[in-house]
Amino acid sequence: MVAKTLILASTLVFSSAFGLPAAEAKVAVDEGRIVADVKALSSDTFEGRAPGTRGEERTIGYLIARMKDAGLEPGGPDGSWLQTVPLLHTVLGAGTMSLGGNAVSQGQEVYVSTLRPEDRARIDAAALVFVGYGVSAPERGWDDFKGVDLKGKVAVFLVNDPDFAAAAGEPVAGKFGGRTMTYYGRWTYKFEEAARRGAIGALIVHDAAGAGYGWNVVTSPRGENYDIVRAPGDLTSLRLQGWIEGGAAEALFRHSGLDLARLRTAARRMDFRPVALKNLTFSADLPVQHETVESHNVLGRIPGARRPDEAVMLGAHWDAYGKGEPDAQGRVYRAGANDDALGIAGILDIARVLKSGPAPSRSVVFAAWTAEERGLLGSEYYAAHPVYPLEKTVANLAIDILQTAGAANDVVLVGQGQDSLEDDMARVARAQGRTVTPESLPERGLFYRADHFSFAKRGVPVLLLMGIAGAADLKQGGRAAGQAWIDRYTGQCYHQACDTWDASWNLTGALQDIDLIGSMAQELASGTRWPEWKPGSEFKALRDKSGAVRR
Ligand SMILES: [Zn+2]
Repeated sequence: MVAKTLILASTLVFSSAFGLPAAEAKVAVDEGRIVADVKALSSDTFEGRAPGTRGEERTIGYLIARMKDAGLEPGGPDGSWLQTVPLLHTVLGAGTMSLGGNAVSQGQEVYVSTLRPEDRARIDAAALVFVGYGVSAPERGWDDFKGVDLKGKVAVFLVNDPDFAAAAGEPVAGKFGGRTMTYYGRWTYKFEEAARRGAIGALIVHDAAGAGYGWNVVTSPRGENYDIVRAPGDLTSLRLQGWIEGGAAEALFRHSGLDLARLRTAARRMDFRPVALKNLTFSADLPVQHETVESHNVLGRIPGARRPDEAVMLGAHWDAYGKGEPDAQGRVYRAGANDDALGIAGILDIARVLKSGPAPSRSVVFAAWTAEERGLLGSEYYAAHPVYPLEKTVANLAIDILQTAGAANDVVLVGQGQDSLEDDMARVARAQGRTVTPESLPERGLFYRADHFSFAKRGVPVLLLMGIAGAADLKQGGRAAGQAWIDRYTGQCYHQACDTWDASWNLTGALQDIDLIGSMAQELASGTRWPEWKPGSEFKALRDKSGAVRR
């Protein structure tokens, strides 16, 4: 039996803690409204909610109407509900590439794409420099670059972070979170670091264990890529970015008289220095189709009564995958009912609950992001053009997929050890009679793969709820049942036409999670406390720089 409504139980706790009237605790998260929003947004009318389509127009219209229903004020720039997000879409055509003097082809020996809006992507005989894991981590006393000049060159990286392949007892072991991936392990970090150093190309040596996926996954976008439209001065210096297939990389290094296996070991040492691939160069000349697609973030807010310039943010992404090939049942839309219409519905209902209570001290901002599935781009655009200053953004709390298999004894934490919001989460969960379980495969780096991360990498403390991050301990069937749900969802429905509303969904656990994140937002918005990054987090130093603003 699915509960019709769930009392915002922890509201009682926080109401008494902050001296607010306990009567407000009567307002509850409403399953009926959440279901209605999920059903609507994942219906064929919205055509799979792809950015820049008629499906987008209908989606943003629906979201504005629902935010108005909830009593929100427009939360976008200049008093509007919408933040326009111009997206760059590029597709590489067939051309020529050579590596170390040998012709190579796209998807075979190398895989590349571009984020520059130019008609051709050209690299003329650029020098290749192996930079190991390519990590510059002052908080860990680690610098792989040692001042090497990468301007006009192609940087060659290893995937993952320096302790990923380390044996116990090696000095590096545990220095980068052990099994847990740090941001330094993500391919996005490596491309960003190469660009900061003026490289014109970046290639990561693929290995399935380090990447967490096979070569087929690397090559599946077929030369297509997306970014936000950037000002000319903010464009990446990388004309091409991508991967070298593992075997091709070994051959390339051998060709230069180098042993990749030996260099892999050397790259795990602090005293590693970049190695030039002597006499070898990379050349490419590929045509690029590029276009700008206009999309939108939808933003609503409850203004703070006493500290309106301090903002607590709640976010989810409205976009999904649009129209595709029909599946076995003839369904053409990949409508993301769970990913992330359910998250959007959750945020909208939290807005209604919070708005029905006393005005919060701080502002609460509700964000429905576009283009998450294109690479976290709606949130990236916002974070690059914030409506509320990031230094005074208290926290970004995000929902991206919730389990639909019923009530749980616990909630799954993504990114353990990052910031103090995990302690708030544990406390609120305890008030719900639940415990916290860390994500099951931290080496996948899920913490770096949802919209909250656009904020984390700029120093804003974050918390993500993601139902596929680890098996919940379900009241019915325990952790095995939680894992069975994940296996079924990720195996059949994730990013597929199968991710539709289903009458068999049991939202009791999802409602607990929505209640939890809503309670956390309410507590933060009622108080004056600033959540903080934990010592050792790669984002702490960045936040600390603006500390004076928050004193
Ligand atoms: Zn998602």
